[in-house]
Amino acid sequence: MVDLLANRKREQTARGTNRLVSELFDDRRGGSQLKDPTSMAIQLYDQPGFVPLKGPDSSLAELTDFICAAQMARADDAHLGELPHEDESGPSHVHGDPPKDKKRKFFEDERWERKKHRAYEKKHMDDDETIRLPNPMIGFGIPDEPWHMSHRTLPEPAIGPPYFYYENVALAPKGVWNTISRFLYDIEPEFVDSKYFCAAARKRGYVHNLPIHNRFPLMPLPPSTINESLPLTRKWWPSWDPRTQLNCLQTCIASAKLTERIRKALEDWDDEPPLHVQKYVLDECRKWNLVWVGRNKVAPLEPDEIEMLLGFPKNHTRGGGISRTDRYKALGNSFQVDTVAYHLSVLKDIFPGGINLLSLFSGIGGAEVALHRLGIPMKNVVSIEISETSRNIVRSWWEQTNQKGNLIDFTDVQQVNGDRLEQLINSFGGFDLVIGGSPCNNLAGSNRVSRDGLEGKHSALFYDYFRILDLVKCIMGKNQ
Ligand code: SAH
Repeated sequence: MVDLLANRKREQTARGTNRLVSELFDDRRGGSQLKDPTSMAIQLYDQPGFVPLKGPDSSLAELTDFICAAQMARADDAHLGELPHEDESGPSHVHGDPPKDKKRKFFEDERWERKKHRAYEKKHMDDDETIRLPNPMIGFGIPDEPWHMSHRTLPEPAIGPPYFYYENVALAPKGVWNTISRFLYDIEPEFVDSKYFCAAARKRGYVHNLPIHNRFPLMPLPPSTINESLPLTRKWWPSWDPRTQLNCLQTCIASAKLTERIRKALEDWDDEPPLHVQKYVLDECRKWNLVWVGRNKVAPLEPDEIEMLLGFPKNHTRGGGISRTDRYKALGNSFQVDTVAYHLSVLKDIFPGGINLLSLFSGIGGAEVALHRLGIPMKNVVSIEISETSRNIVRSWWEQTNQKGNLIDFTDVQQVNGDRLEQLINSFGGFDLVIGGSPCNNLAGSNRVSRDGLEGKHSALFYDYFRILDLVKCIMGKNQ
């Protein structure tokens, strides 16, 4: 049965490869030839619709074999007839950026459809075997309980180089984490709630191939309660509000209308309000993370308080004309630095001279700040982030902290192709860590409108994380 499945998978991959080879040839017909089967394999990996075999079968050698077979079969490949006529006038692009002609667009759409279809099939397979979230959500261990688990065996294809680290919301729709895990070499996700690291909850899943023994936390340990983190709220905190920690810090805050309504609901009572009023107020406070800043007065957290809770330096997101709304938004999407740093801490001994980092969906630089706070030098950072505001925040932090390395930034992960990666890898000898948390917009429970799962417009960028990581693995494998 296993053999049968493996054969079918091999056949499907061969067919897919054959098809993609045809497309590659078509793109380049009349233009220059590809260098050799290995470069072609790399080009293939660059195709958004290409999903390699997992297991030892996915080696470059095997892929190259497939290409040779596909090249031979190509002569009488009936599929070719189905392809639209190409625009002969267009330039050939073997090593440049992809041509932006109609045909290319057609193929991109077609590949995209294939990609979606594959993921859809997987999703249905996954429905029976949804990953369970652990309770307590402490992953493979937290600073207070580092002995929880100190060893795991990674599937062979998951082992680096490079090391990689992928993050997203833990409470995603059914099947999402199974799909993420399957794409990312069948690694079991590590689910962690940041409430074990700071005074605010943040339930996230992390798929990574890092060692898990000898982790250490960032020092000083951040305060773990609201009371310690925001001492000025102590004076006003009513005895009937039992909260000691905050809920997940979100991208938007409560309106002034709401806080005013709460004030009005409380002002009629000298002492403790009746239970139903308490319940109303507590529900709203929990939902919006409101804190007590005066008598009967609650307020949302200030951006600098959120920065502190998430482990960023004070005023990290301030300046450069950024609005408060955008600060909340960028912070709401970011890593909790202490949590991520705990996982990345193992890199300190492995790379005493520093690392080359590929940071996808960098946002406000949670990964970079974590590495810096761990004392891991960053030699070269390639950071890819679509928001100009966020790119400016990272650039400004880079300058403020007198980083010695190079920060190279790009805008869109979808534009990053194999040629670009090969150039970068050749220029500084490879990436040690590929890190990123792709957008969670279509996964998060707070999205009532378009919680479309991994195939949603934004969340589907996960597949670009996988595509880029797999390309880096392949290029670095070839260079070894
Ligand atoms: N881990 C980051 C935040 C990740 S949130 C941090 O610590 O701050 C996801 C990020 O992906 C957002 O900043 C969003 O602007 C960015 N993004 C969305 N689409 C993108 C694309 N096509 N290319 C690059 N970045 C993108």
